[in-house]
Amino acid sequence: MKFAMIGAGAMGLRYGILLQEAGNDVTFIDTWQPHIDKIREQGGVYVMRDHKDRHLTKIKLETPESYTGDPDMFIFFVKQMQLEDYLKRCAHLFNDRQYAFTCMNGMGHIEKLQKYFADDKIIGGTALIATVLPGPGEVDFMGKRGAGMMNMCPLNEKPDEMTHRLFHELEKAQMHPTLTDDFTGTLMTKVIFNSVINTICTMFEIPMGEFGNFPGAYQMGRQLIDEAYDICARAGIKLVSSRDEEMAALDHNTRIDMPLHYPSMYQDMIKDRPTEVDYINGYIAKLGRKYHYEAATHLFVTQAVHLAEFHRQNEAKKRAAEALAEPNRQAQTA
Ligand code: NAD
Repeated sequence: MKFAMIGAGAMGLRYGILLQEAGNDVTFIDTWQPHIDKIREQGGVYVMRDHKDRHLTKIKLETPESYTGDPDMFIFFVKQMQLEDYLKRCAHLFNDRQYAFTCMNGMGHIEKLQKYFADDKIIGGTALIATVLPGPGEVDFMGKRGAGMMNMCPLNEKPDEMTHRLFHELEKAQMHPTLTDDFTGTLMTKVIFNSVINTICTMFEIPMGEFGNFPGAYQMGRQLIDEAYDICARAGIKLVSSRDEEMAALDHNTRIDMPLHYPSMYQDMIKDRPTEVDYINGYIAKLGRKYHYEAATHLFVTQAVHLAEFHRQNEAKKRAAEALAEPNRQAQTA
């Protein structure tokens, strides 16, 4: 198949490179200039697995303005707050024949995609896999080859030939896809999962195992899960796992599967980038309001993550001011 990856960040590179290795024609489209410059200078991307085996992988990289291809499918892997800009910059590339697929975290992206693609051309999903972009031009795939799994479902819940072709290519790429039959339930189950681990580990700046092994983890997680499940029940959203199954998955993921891993939201926080919390806990709280349910814990967590972002931004400003003041001090003492 012919794919264009919109976003050559951590996940875009992981999916794109694995699809390329599985025999597909893949082009990456990105706008982050230092990353583009580095990839062009190196002649590709340095790929690692669990910080080891660093090797150069050649990729085709374009910007929205330089790309002239006509892919079967665009795969979107950008942060929620970047999507609107990317869609605007790429709009001239889209036509009625093409499909849009995404496994982005959070909620809000599907409505944006619907402005450019018909409902029967949108396939959504969730990815349970960890990937890190240490800096421009390099990517670290966490976990062994074949690690992780994913769910996917067409927006109209009617899998067509293209859905099956995509499924087959993802299987060949060892992404372990499962085709589900409930679109919103599939996406919301992952949003709820992230609303516990991503946010708590990010605001405390701790690896997932530290949360999983904390004696109060069950109580903290359960409070967020219960609120979110109550809201989904009011909204008529059928989640793909029960409350107890979601709690068991959280426990397994944090303590056994990825105890040393920091969630992707944490990677944004430490790079002083905005997090996706408004599209995760914030989205759950907004949905709650629509159904007259005050999601007090999700609202609190949303603000707590914003407080952590605010603190880091203030620290960065202080460091910048000190760095500016230092040469003056040296000049005065010289
Ligand atoms: P990413 O931040 O690595 O990349 C997204 C975009 O941001 C790319 O265009 C990239 O070039 C750009 N970018 C990266 N670092 C930047 C910087 N310092 N300054 C400016 N631009 C920068 O995002 P991702 O981790 O690939 O996530 C994409 C989506 O997938 C998100 O919704 C995320 O929540 C979700 N997701 C991520 C993971 C993961 O482990 N990384 C796992 C599951 C789902």
